[in-house]
Amino acid sequence: MLIGGNWVPASSGRVFDTVDPATGGVLTQVPDGDEHDIDRAVSAARRAFADPQWRRVSPLDRGQLLHRIADLIEAHADELALLESRDNGKPVSVARAVDVGTSVKLFRYFAGWPSKFEGSTVPVSPRGGLRVLNYTTHQPVGVVGLIVPWNFPMAMACWKLAPALATGCTVVLKPAEETPLSTLRLAQLLVEAGVPDGVINVVTGRGATAGAALAAHDDVDKIAFTGSTETGRAIVGAAAGNLKRVSLELGGKSPNIVLPDADPEAVAQAAAEAIFFNQGQVCTAGSRLYVHDALYDDVVDAVAARAEKIVVGPGTDPASDMGPLVSARHHDRVSSFIEAGRRQGARLAAGGARPDLNDRYANGYFLRPTVFAEADHGMRIVREEIFGPVLAAMRWSDVDDLVAKANDSPFGLSAGIWTSDLGHAHRIADELQAGTVWINCFNLTDPASPFGGFKQSGWGREMGRKVLDLYTEVKSVWVNLG
Ligand code: NAD
Repeated sequence: MLIGGNWVPASSGRVFDTVDPATGGVLTQVPDGDEHDIDRAVSAARRAFADPQWRRVSPLDRGQLLHRIADLIEAHADELALLESRDNGKPVSVARAVDVGTSVKLFRYFAGWPSKFEGSTVPVSPRGGLRVLNYTTHQPVGVVGLIVPWNFPMAMACWKLAPALATGCTVVLKPAEETPLSTLRLAQLLVEAGVPDGVINVVTGRGATAGAALAAHDDVDKIAFTGSTETGRAIVGAAAGNLKRVSLELGGKSPNIVLPDADPEAVAQAAAEAIFFNQGQVCTAGSRLYVHDALYDDVVDAVAARAEKIVVGPGTDPASDMGPLVSARHHDRVSSFIEAGRRQGARLAAGGARPDLNDRYANGYFLRPTVFAEADHGMRIVREEIFGPVLAAMRWSDVDDLVAKANDSPFGLSAGIWTSDLGHAHRIADELQAGTVWINCFNLTDPASPFGGFKQSGWGREMGRKVLDLYTEVKSVWVNLG
């Protein structure tokens, strides 16, 4: 773990295994950090926050530092992609294009902000005609705890690290216990880029111990969390002690809506990508497919046919379109939803079981892409987040009923609309309770565009100009000019 610029073991001396999801074998071991290690890391981050060496870095120099980080990630792209693939299971090509590519773009984008994130002068009207100057400045919120999930391990860390460093915060980062490796390598690169000691600290450890201790720590000013809605709720409770700021990117159950004038073949391909990308382990996965009655059979048959053609195999094999799920526990969880879909009467149109792979991968956590047709709005596969490659397809005919059903979810992260009638698409987009709506596209994100959820999908918006507010406090300064 990285604490105060030193690479250290857990203070307890304990370690835990990180597992190769393609084989079930142990890849390596990492320190099992607990509340004592969190305490050391928070102290190091607090000292670094007070240190003029970090506080007084000029905006342009801060931007340069972020560019150097982007350069180093780019220079080690192949190595980082392979590491991500081995630890998480995803195809190396996906790790290279999406995880590494996104991480580089994030640091490049946020490198521009330190020199442009201005305060303002405010035209105030004080009592008695007093002449005053009122201006605002943005100041870093302080020590920030970053808690991230396993689905895009490095990219999720960079979503938070880039704005935190751009605004002058210091951080304690806790990667998911399933996927700590790319984060540790990334931290080495940050040190190499010149991030001062204690500005970034990484504690590997479990959610219930290290994560909970970070969320509850009285000397942490803010928690930025991405993960499940259930854990988000626990973090809000833990944060209450010192009323630290909390931002949350949580779960989703995104509706993907097909209008009657869409092209069935093109939609089928896009709908399959929307749910099966990254083994379905995507918070925005298009997991509820609502197809107009007129196209329903054509689209669902074509999605099922595409699902059957997806090559499932180890992420390190270039022939694999889809890798294993991240862990045995998660495989069991997703499989139990498939069982629930069958039991509750949905029609299994594709997948539903493990693929046949050779002996080397017999214990891997593979699952075939699964399509349920004739799903009903009350079924568990429609209501709950599965976070795996399982699609539930439903028919619709009345647009008001469709919008009501699309919105009838505790989540509100994203939605997709497919049509050649853009006016209609905009009208529906206006009514959907979702932080992101994609029209004739899906799963696009960019560091410049705000991302986050309505309802129980989260608090706040990451990326874009908006995220800077999450890492800063505004100060209003009054000066008597009399
Ligand atoms: P999770 O909530 O189990 O774990 C996420 C992180 O929280 C891990 O680092 C874990 O160790 C930590 N954690 C667990 N319990 C904790 C506690 N009590 N206190 C503090 N930290 C704790 O989620 P997961 O299974 O790793 O990830 C899947 C979930 O993440 C899905 O629900 C998915 O939708 C969501 N997700 C959301 C987004 C988004 O941007 N909205 C992105 C990716 C994933």
